[in-house]
Amino acid sequence: MLNKKLVIVSNREPYSHRKGRVEKAAGGVVTALDPIMQKNHGIWVAWGSGEEDRKFADEAGRVKVPPENPSYTLKRVWLTEKQIDDYYHGYSNRFLWPLCHMVLDRVYLKRSYWTGYKKVNQLFADAIVDEVRRKKAIVWLHDYHLAICASYIKERNPELPTTIFWHIPWPPYDVFRICPQRKDLLEGMLANDIVGFQLESFCENFMNCASAELGAKIDIKKRVVYYKGHATGVRAFPISVDFRWFESSASSKKEEGIIKRLMKSHRIQPGVLIGLGVDRLDYTKGLTKRLETIDLFFSKYPRFKEKFTFVQVAVPTRKVEPYLSYRKGVENKIRNINHKYGSDMWNPIVYIDTRMDQEKLSALYRAADIAIISSIYDGMNLVAKEYIASQVDEKGVLLLSEFAGAAEEIPGVTLINPYDIEGCADAIKNALERPLVYKIEAIREARAYVKRNDIFKWVDEILEEIKNIG
Ligand code: UDP
Repeated sequence: MLNKKLVIVSNREPYSHRKGRVEKAAGGVVTALDPIMQKNHGIWVAWGSGEEDRKFADEAGRVKVPPENPSYTLKRVWLTEKQIDDYYHGYSNRFLWPLCHMVLDRVYLKRSYWTGYKKVNQLFADAIVDEVRRKKAIVWLHDYHLAICASYIKERNPELPTTIFWHIPWPPYDVFRICPQRKDLLEGMLANDIVGFQLESFCENFMNCASAELGAKIDIKKRVVYYKGHATGVRAFPISVDFRWFESSASSKKEEGIIKRLMKSHRIQPGVLIGLGVDRLDYTKGLTKRLETIDLFFSKYPRFKEKFTFVQVAVPTRKVEPYLSYRKGVENKIRNINHKYGSDMWNPIVYIDTRMDQEKLSALYRAADIAIISSIYDGMNLVAKEYIASQVDEKGVLLLSEFAGAAEEIPGVTLINPYDIEGCADAIKNALERPLVYKIEAIREARAYVKRNDIFKWVDEILEEIKNIG
């Protein structure tokens, strides 16, 4: 149990006020942290992005949450349209996101992006320091939107312990040095007492960047970076999902009805084998490569026509370039494949371009004979773990890109290289034809792993690590 106030800081807020109601953010992190924040009576600092957020906050931007049991403070940071453009759409999503995922031809930078990013990190830091005042507290920052926030926090309150968890990959120095602000970013990260990444390899990349760029002293074995008289611990904490929730949701009685309705509305005949992809429509998810794979699969193995349908849930994400053109490209490819192989009775690909709630997703995960994750680079990929947790019939096969963080962790999955289209097409065929006993053996191993290493364990391990700093 923490004997200090926990201050969580993230770009997205756990609760937002929209259209006359309060929306709780979906996803494992909020699910796992919300009860801890309630017990701790902590403070959550986030961008107030809901249309009606101001109406429900006091003049300092504070509102007590959750609505049914107001027990911790959500402190909203207000941003102007220009700041949102520069800090969020610009520096975070057009620059840091592709850089860290090593999609270098998508890296785009304007000077105003960096100016906005610095300003917003400072606004967050001011909000944190003003809320904490003299209380004993520990600050837990989240993700690439807040890389330099700790520098501003420590300028005003050097005694306040801070940690950051970086949810996306940290690239090797040869890629990171593309960044003109690399020194400031590294110094911002190193102002924290502990920095957390998904994988050991990202920890090593980060430490090597600190050494190469700043001349910081690093202890690779102990995972510590020494810089300007301050020591920063560097740790791997692979994030996970609420295993039990997905398992029980997939097992519920409602599940059958959800699947029946879905099959009917998309004209999928009973008995057809189902393949599944669930992604944000993001270029890092390798959707175009996956579609090329499916095209080749039907051309190489035509006996699967009318016997196999691939369901692709693709949630439109950022409404800016290059996402808009990427979406068009994906949709064109799907149209071509359906035209090339489809019939009056059957579509090779069913395309769902709206967000599904996780209850429906868990039903789909359960029903899918195979799931394909073809990320060209991915910090973790939670869909992989959600699919495994929902596989209560133990008949599914997960084809997982070796470039997704989850691939370094989970046993019992079939690794694929999304760049090897022919290899991936063969992997689909082999998975569909794999004898049931082997499928059961593999998915059981994967399920046991994810069950032992769920999101609650992730939070506990981080809290255990940070409770003694400061
Ligand atoms: N998701 C969802 N509805 C959808 C598609 C995705 O709720 O229609 C959720 C999914 O359950 C998962 C998250 O979005 O928890 C995607 O996480 P992941 O780590 O796979 O990728 P990210 O989008 O964070 O890069």
